[in-house]
Amino acid sequence: MVADNGANETNEQFDVLKSTQTVIKKALDKLGYPNEVYDLLKEPVRMMTVRIPVRMDDDSIEIFTGYRAQHNDAVGPTKGGVRFHPNVSEKEVKALSIWMSLKAGIVDLPYGGGKGGIVCDPREMSFRELEGISRGYVRAISQIVGPTKDIPAPDVFTNSQIMAWMMDEYSRIDEFNNPGFITGKPIVLGGSHGRETATAKGVTICIDEAAKQKGIDIEGARVVVQGFGNAGSFLAKFMHDKGAKVIGISDAYGGLHDPDGLDIEYLLDRRDSFGTVTNLFKNTITNEELLELDCDILVPAAIENQITEKNANSIKASIIVEAANGPTTLEATRILSDRGILLVPDVLASAGGVTVSYFEWVQNNQGYYWTEDEVEEKLHKVIVKGFANVYRTAENRKVDMRLAAYMVGVRKMAEASRFRGWI
Ligand code: GLU
Repeated sequence: MVADNGANETNEQFDVLKSTQTVIKKALDKLGYPNEVYDLLKEPVRMMTVRIPVRMDDDSIEIFTGYRAQHNDAVGPTKGGVRFHPNVSEKEVKALSIWMSLKAGIVDLPYGGGKGGIVCDPREMSFRELEGISRGYVRAISQIVGPTKDIPAPDVFTNSQIMAWMMDEYSRIDEFNNPGFITGKPIVLGGSHGRETATAKGVTICIDEAAKQKGIDIEGARVVVQGFGNAGSFLAKFMHDKGAKVIGISDAYGGLHDPDGLDIEYLLDRRDSFGTVTNLFKNTITNEELLELDCDILVPAAIENQITEKNANSIKASIIVEAANGPTTLEATRILSDRGILLVPDVLASAGGVTVSYFEWVQNNQGYYWTEDEVEEKLHKVIVKGFANVYRTAENRKVDMRLAAYMVGVRKMAEASRFRGWI
């Protein structure tokens, strides 16, 4: 799964940038915006490509390629994670920055979208090499980032330790202890309570809201989670704690299935820092089989292009909540919507992470820190409101939830760009 995430730039259907642009165009047309608004929003306003030299443990120098995309900064500074992954590409980072703008719009944060990525495989790198690449990336992009310009955060295969190195490097360059430069930091360095679990909490809230609409009781509901990283593993735990039966989970190498419910506590205990756990078991299923399991709620929490026109007709869940960015292609979205499956799109379902990142940045700016309960209460309000707006738009405008989310998400940045006199 990791080696082939479908992000094949020659295949139009799997071109995440192209499919994002298609939905942005549809959303702007539905809202009645002229074409120049689309022309502005279809690409990031700024895109930086950097080359990062890192001294490796064997004393050789390796040069890595990194990107930082800033989609639109009309509403406020841009914001979004940095991923370390061998499949990172310029197009993917651009699409991800647009998705961050949409997330910020849907949950009404004072940000535009940004995203970064480095082409590397952190699973093959030592702690020291990871520190080198993290600090090198910050040095390379330092001129375009900062607490009032563009605020990075964790994403696929990056974590609070990497945020700490990046914050330290930026503080050295800025000659100022500057925690608000980045979010997802360790608590002792100005991180927020609840940030680590925020994406999964946001997904859980969306599952609750979707289940209410579908009349499904969470207690006893059969849940399948694809991916056991930060989002997937915490989500499996939260669903298990709420009395749901988590019957399937997977990582990059395969999946586990038990119709009576898996022992989630045990799996959490045994997973490594990259979310790998299935290597400890003999009887595994493939990721493809996992997605087609008989269940009530399916949560793709891994990578892009997992539900396509090839398997959309075989999905048995009645609710799909996208914890990953871009797990469902547009053709698959159409098939699922025609089949009456309620799909909560990524730009809404995974907005919990950036919401608590916003809370972290606010706490850093004011130098006054909140309790975990305060963070959770605020997060709950924000996600419930975002879900209600998107659901209402889908009902009123008779569009699927993805198009509705894009309509809610683009409106504020289109208006802000217009007020600034850009379009
Ligand atoms: N990487 C996360 C996302 O895709 C979080 C971004 C942030 O916290 O700024 O939403």
